[in-house]
Amino acid sequence: MAKIGIIGGSGLYQIEGLKNAKEVEIKTPFGEPSDKYVIGSLENTEIAFLPRHGKGHRISPSELNFRANIFGMKKLGVERIISVTACGSLKQEFKPLDFVIPDQFVDRTHKARPDTFFEKGIVAHVVFADPVCSDLSKTLYNCAKELGITVHYGGTYLNMEGPAFSTRAESELYRKWGMDIIGMTNLQEAKLAREAEICYATLAAVTDFDCWHQTEEEVSIDMIIQNLQKNIENAKKILKSAIKRLGKDRTCDCKDALKYAIITSKELIPAQIKKDLSIIIGKYINPVR
Ligand SMILES: [Zn+2]
Repeated sequence: MAKIGIIGGSGLYQIEGLKNAKEVEIKTPFGEPSDKYVIGSLENTEIAFLPRHGKGHRISPSELNFRANIFGMKKLGVERIISVTACGSLKQEFKPLDFVIPDQFVDRTHKARPDTFFEKGIVAHVVFADPVCSDLSKTLYNCAKELGITVHYGGTYLNMEGPAFSTRAESELYRKWGMDIIGMTNLQEAKLAREAEICYATLAAVTDFDCWHQTEEEVSIDMIIQNLQKNIENAKKILKSAIKRLGKDRTCDCKDALKYAIITSKELIPAQIKKDLSIIIGKYINPVR
């Protein structure tokens, strides 16, 4: 069992230095995760790593099976997920090679991505006003700062659909809305992690200024890749430091997110759903007598 999960975004397809690393294939009621999970020990802590887009970066943001990815983490015993992600910046002060720990999200996807475990006979409304775990976010922030890496705490992540980057008009619009960074994947993960009572925090590394920045070169793939590689080196340092620092037990509210969220009468929840979701809802629908 691994208590800490790491989802690696663009550029982060493996974690070096994992002891006793082994690949595990996980089956879920929601289909296939992006790849096999790599389980191993880092800084004497068991972690589970999943490359978000699969090894070799094969799966586009719109095609990701977010539910399977997060369910797989739950099945492995993960209680905290650190999501490493590349992002564009919509603010002058968030520069390429800076890190941002966002605390809010805005959804600009086409809503075609399934982002809940609760459907087909079960309804649950989790509280999502604060969509990331502040304990985990603060740990990431403190670790980055102590390593001398430029890091910003808080900010709104605009989750666009992709895969093409924004038009200039879209980029300007998001800036007028007060958005801080832009990416294609983290909102759905954060929602599903909350439903699964897993702490979730985003470690976002700025690769570029999107396309609004008139004095900068427009987003070029070359530039993004170069910045990405530098960012990944720093992200790995932050991860190692954070894993060392995270305590064994959680004191935040994430672990009880479903306590009052399931609305459907227990006796009316279909048996198949009870079975499929047992690792998530079991403790609420089958109380220990
Ligand atoms: Zn938490």
